[in-house]
Amino acid sequence: MSGNVDIVFHIMLNRLEIIRYHVIECYFSILDTLVRRAVLIPLGMVFLVMIPSMMNREEFPTFRIVIDPGHGGVGKQPMSVHGDRYDTLTGRYLDVFKEGAERRGLKESVIVYSIARKTEKILRSLAPGADHDRFYQLLEKYADGVPVKINVITKLSRGKSITWEEADGMEDPNAPFRLFDYPDAQGIIRHGRISRINAFKPQLVVSLHLALSGPRDYEGMNPVITPPYDLLRAGLDYLQGRGEDRGFFWNSPYSDWFIEDTSRSAFSWFLNDTSLYFTGYPLRRNRKVDLSGFKGYRFNMLDWAYASSEGWENAARHHIPSSRYAQTPRAVVPEGKFWKRERSPHESFRRGGGEEGFGGDNAYASYEIIRYICLSLRLHGDDSRSQKPGKSYISVWIMPLHVNAVSAFIELGYLNRRRDRLLLTRKQDEIAEGIAVGIFSLLTGLEPRDKNYTHAPRGKGIDFTKYKMPEGKTYFEAVVND
Ligand SMILES: [Zn+2]
Repeated sequence: MSGNVDIVFHIMLNRLEIIRYHVIECYFSILDTLVRRAVLIPLGMVFLVMIPSMMNREEFPTFRIVIDPGHGGVGKQPMSVHGDRYDTLTGRYLDVFKEGAERRGLKESVIVYSIARKTEKILRSLAPGADHDRFYQLLEKYADGVPVKINVITKLSRGKSITWEEADGMEDPNAPFRLFDYPDAQGIIRHGRISRINAFKPQLVVSLHLALSGPRDYEGMNPVITPPYDLLRAGLDYLQGRGEDRGFFWNSPYSDWFIEDTSRSAFSWFLNDTSLYFTGYPLRRNRKVDLSGFKGYRFNMLDWAYASSEGWENAARHHIPSSRYAQTPRAVVPEGKFWKRERSPHESFRRGGGEEGFGGDNAYASYEIIRYICLSLRLHGDDSRSQKPGKSYISVWIMPLHVNAVSAFIELGYLNRRRDRLLLTRKQDEIAEGIAVGIFSLLTGLEPRDKNYTHAPRGKGIDFTKYKMPEGKTYFEAVVND
């Protein structure tokens, strides 16, 4: 049902895209010939009017997808040269480059890149003009009936991971892998991964990670999600002394907050992350602001429509109370473009409620892809009880918060678990197929055949029409100032 609405919407939306891929070349060559042969201009006009309507029958909705394998660079010192999270306020990197998990020669960055490449290769047959039949044959294993026809333009967020040896001779080996914008050798700010992803204006970003180890109750594959603004705002109200009741947190679907270490409760970590989110400063255990732990204004580390206007550093430097740059949760006032974005209905669609009852489209997309991975493994004869959708990691994570697309972010497994190691190294093709079919299902809906399977996908497409903006743009397109 929702698939039909999507089609109408996307045909409108993606007309330009289709024309670019299917028509423009032949269009201009016809035009060129007409002009060269001095055929009457009115005849040319007839073609101008007719060709787009002739093409209508051929038009499929087109989606833009990013597969984002985590990491890729090296955690080299000094941080002042090789780090990430570049802060223009202080002119330095605020974080080391996160190299990702590694165990006995098995590297997260290499494994997730390999799976991402395989996924991209499968989805490539849905590119405009490609032989779509190959993909539709693959779907026969998963569903009955005739699936909806769509085009998918797929991009990888990065190239092959770099080794320490390769990095040795290079001036800035982490340049292609940083998440945030960074200065080049001339001091010119270059796009990091998030800005590049947003500039592509995708509807869906699929980030792939894995971990060295995980809490015992985090089995299988786990989504990584960021809660909606309302919960974080309630946390700020609490820190500002308005109300002592913690029920808003403990009764929410987000109370299983990510715990960095067990010296603090989930609620204490939630307050710490609330402070980081609103002010850039973490909290000590006694809830005092840690002024030495500044993590920067992440929304200003990107080139997007929600960064503060140029020269914002002049205001930020003084950390004026009752502004967005105040140093304490008590004094901060979330105002300006980014905070308006945070309060927008589109962000609540991405992050709150939705099909899973929490986590919005981001959580649904993550869980649905996980269910398709489990189904793919099962269809290929590999079934196990430990292969399942697990609990979500909940915090103010960078990627799900700062990409302006539906964000599926998945921890695919744990390197210290034998069964996971086996899947992640020997079943990459099956995992990639599950991800690709999952993406397809999220874009248009796909009725899975085996409904009795414990982890059967729901098969419901995301309703992208709700991301339409009043000006006719979509939320995904509004991320950059054109
Ligand atoms: Zn990772």
